Amino acid sequence: MSDRYAVVGNPIAHSWSPVIHAAFARTTREDIAYAHLLAAVDGFAGTVLRFRDEGGRGLNVTLPFKLDAFALATEHSARARAAGAANLLAFDDGRIFADNTDGAGLVRDIETRLALPLQQCSVLLLGAGGAACGVIHPLLAAGVASLVIANRSAARARELAARIGDARVRGGGFELASHAIAAGERFDVVINATSIGLAGERLPLPDALFAQARLALDMFYAATPTPFMVQAASAGCAVVSDGLGMLVEQAAESFLIWRGVRPDTACVFAALRAELSARGR
Ligand code: NDP
Repeated sequence: MSDRYAVVGNPIAHSWSPVIHAAFARTTREDIAYAHLLAAVDGFAGTVLRFRDEGGRGLNVTLPFKLDAFALATEHSARARAAGAANLLAFDDGRIFADNTDGAGLVRDIETRLALPLQQCSVLLLGAGGAACGVIHPLLAAGVASLVIANRSAARARELAARIGDARVRGGGFELASHAIAAGERFDVVINATSIGLAGERLPLPDALFAQARLALDMFYAATPTPFMVQAASAGCAVVSDGLGMLVEQAAESFLIWRGVRPDTACVFAALRAELSARGR
């Protein structure tokens, strides 16, 4: 029988993870079955333990359970500990191992697919929620020169920056970015890790921020470019991207952890991009 994996969340039917992992399994000839797993909002632990007890080997975890996954695990990777959240669980005898592959996925997408080395880059990270927390340490490990965290709730970004305790990091409200630009600072990379894309709204950011940037990346993805991407492109940003590549790369990192083989992502990315574009027509 195939080794069983799933993505657990609520809601979950929209997730592309089963399609992505099925494609990885085909190309690597790994014998896995990967499904959607819906958990009640107050029933995460029970759903996970039942899946494991029925022979499940591992889970990806999405909203709203990344903190619950971290809490349920008996062992944590350094990057899961740094994020305080997990998007991957692996089961081995009685042990539950937690990891966070979101940041590795983002860094790989930027450095490999978008061909932009992060070493010595100045980065502006918009947002201080779960997704932002997951990518901070991988960005620092990639050697960025500076990392500004700007968030709607300024105090949340300041606290996060203080908790990181790295001299390259500072945090505050969105005006931190505007003031930095007005003072002549420039950001090579601007990453939108807020969930404003869901609302189709625009962040209060000056066009000059994007005119000087080498990359603007929205973690959100949709059939059509997000307002963040539209602003960045019209302001003259060199490269603009959504979060589809990050999604595929974090999945590849999960597959590597579970199966010990890194799948090729280019074909899967191209197929999903075509599917997403078709939905927008
Ligand atoms: P959270 O709910 O944990 O955090 C939401 C963040 O967005 C907070 O910083 C919040 O600010 C900010 N925010 C929400 N609404 C607004 C608004 N109207 N104006 C300004 N800021 C706002 O969500 P996540 O961190 O889990 O997810 C963030 C985004 O990242 C989502 O779009 C998600 O789809 C995407 N994502 C993509 C992944 C991928 O693989 N491509 C992986 C994971 C996430 P405040 O603190 O002030 O409330």
